[in-house]
Amino acid sequence: MDGEAAVYNEGMTGPHFIREIVTADLAAGRNDRRVATRFPPEPNGYLHIGHAKAICLNFGVARDFSGTCNLRFDDTNPAKEEVEYVDAIQADVRWLGFEWGDRLFYASDYFERLYGCAVQLIGDGKAYVDSLTADDIREYRGTLREPGKESPHRSRSIDENLDLFARMRAGEFPDGAHVLRAKIDMASPNITMRDPILYRVRRIHHHRTGDAWCIYPMYDYAHPLSDAFERVTHSLCTLEFEDHRPLYDWLIANVGDLPGHPKQTEFARLNLTYTVMSKRKLLQLVSGGHVAGWDDPRLPTISGMRRRGFTPEAIRRFCDQIGVARRENIIDVGLLEFLVREDLNTRAPRAMAVLRPLKVVIENYPAGQDETFEVANHPKDPAMGTRHVPFGRELYVEHDDFMEAPEKKFFRLSPGREVRLRGAYLITCREVIKNPSGEVVELRCTYDPETRGGDAPDGRKVKATLHWVSAAHALEAEVRLYDRLFTDETPGAGDADFLSQINPQALKVLSGCKLEPSLSDAAPGAQFQFERMGYFCADPESGTERPVFNRTVTLRDGWAKR
Ligand code: ATP
Ligand code: MG
Repeated sequence: MDGEAAVYNEGMTGPHFIREIVTADLAAGRNDRRVATRFPPEPNGYLHIGHAKAICLNFGVARDFSGTCNLRFDDTNPAKEEVEYVDAIQADVRWLGFEWGDRLFYASDYFERLYGCAVQLIGDGKAYVDSLTADDIREYRGTLREPGKESPHRSRSIDENLDLFARMRAGEFPDGAHVLRAKIDMASPNITMRDPILYRVRRIHHHRTGDAWCIYPMYDYAHPLSDAFERVTHSLCTLEFEDHRPLYDWLIANVGDLPGHPKQTEFARLNLTYTVMSKRKLLQLVSGGHVAGWDDPRLPTISGMRRRGFTPEAIRRFCDQIGVARRENIIDVGLLEFLVREDLNTRAPRAMAVLRPLKVVIENYPAGQDETFEVANHPKDPAMGTRHVPFGRELYVEHDDFMEAPEKKFFRLSPGREVRLRGAYLITCREVIKNPSGEVVELRCTYDPETRGGDAPDGRKVKATLHWVSAAHALEAEVRLYDRLFTDETPGAGDADFLSQINPQALKVLSGCKLEPSLSDAAPGAQFQFERMGYFCADPESGTERPVFNRTVTLRDGWAKR
């Protein structure tokens, strides 16, 4: 990770209890003073903002302690896993700004080795083949209050177990006929320790190992051993694995000759308001057609946030600010939006775009004439340069910037009123033209040629400055206004069905928007502040023949007021 730190410094840099643990381990000379972490996604869905927290934590700790961080696919459950996810996960981790170099691993690469460890456990009398049905195994496991019952197969001889396990692998038994279990303690107060299942028979094609295996290791078995094979020192995972830690330690202690002795430490998972994060629910949203795919900009997936125009810097900053704690909490999604806004404020060039156009004809501007204004791309950053914006007799302004009978505090265009067109001229509204149904369709205005650049030589003031686009030069585009996907702060809480809490306003598609022509050069994904309207990015997925811009965030947090 050398060199990375020079480029940026966000991504879990603040003090937190995990850094304290690592610092203490280094001071005590543990693990030969090595720090090795890993990010272990299961390729059964796309990464989300919660994973970003785990990525920043694992890669961040490695970077800050001159250690290493592996990317390991925990691909032990072929029923739900796909190559598409493997590829997307790598792209997302890279986009977030982290590199694993040559440390890309797959739990499936260890299948033979994991099998060997299981044989070793059987040989040591620490694992046995059980032939109870799945229902019986559940029944025998007991409850939180009652101890479990030992399976009648628990006392099988080592030789019989070795023989049965080899035949499980060889495909002699149907799915579910036998499982391999650790022989630990059916009376343990921790249900995880009541002879947990290590292997089961499943005839499923694996995306990497094909049909080579018909038995697959359980996550709880494969995970600690994979950590040990990779000589991980600090295995950081979310709190729901706390009860599994004794099993993690048991495996590390009872499988002999492991190259490493990792330690598991749990931290609180990220929860965000107005957001669901479990892959199961995200998959439901995608496969149920509630959103347009894993990269739908309404989703908290990394690919969705990227398409929406969030920056990796803002996401890393967010992960930094929320910190790492032991207790679960829920973070206001407004913080993420705030940081995106703050980042884009410095980064995004300005442009003018009229989303709901109202035509303006400048009656005293000669027909057929036009001119251009040189406008700064950023009000505070001259290094971002300038661009030329064309002006002509026919323009568009925002429909909302006009009121025929203005309310008390409405200072923008209305009949007889003078306003500034940003960087161009002062104009005065002279006449309102309506269609037969009474809707305002056009304004006839005049301009003051003495006010070129937007200021009157006599010093008279106007109370409003509007953005505008020349009709003759406008780029027509579709603009998609994205908002929070759920109307409820904690979707799915209690008995609520999260699907019934989807915000129908989360996507509004505006067609026929009028953009200043410079935006026709926007690279896919390029971000802009559309003056007065918010931050937008050129949708990276739609072709150039029909430009589409996505709203990333509004200029201010409008949600708090609702
Ligand atoms: P989900 O519960 O969303 O389906 P998962 O935990 O099953 O996710 P994995 O692919 O197993 O997904 O996760 C990879 C890593 O990311 C794990 O170490 C996991 O603890 C961590 N992780 C997953 N969700 C979060 C979250 N919301 N906050 C922090 N870390 C998370
Ligand atoms: Mg998981």
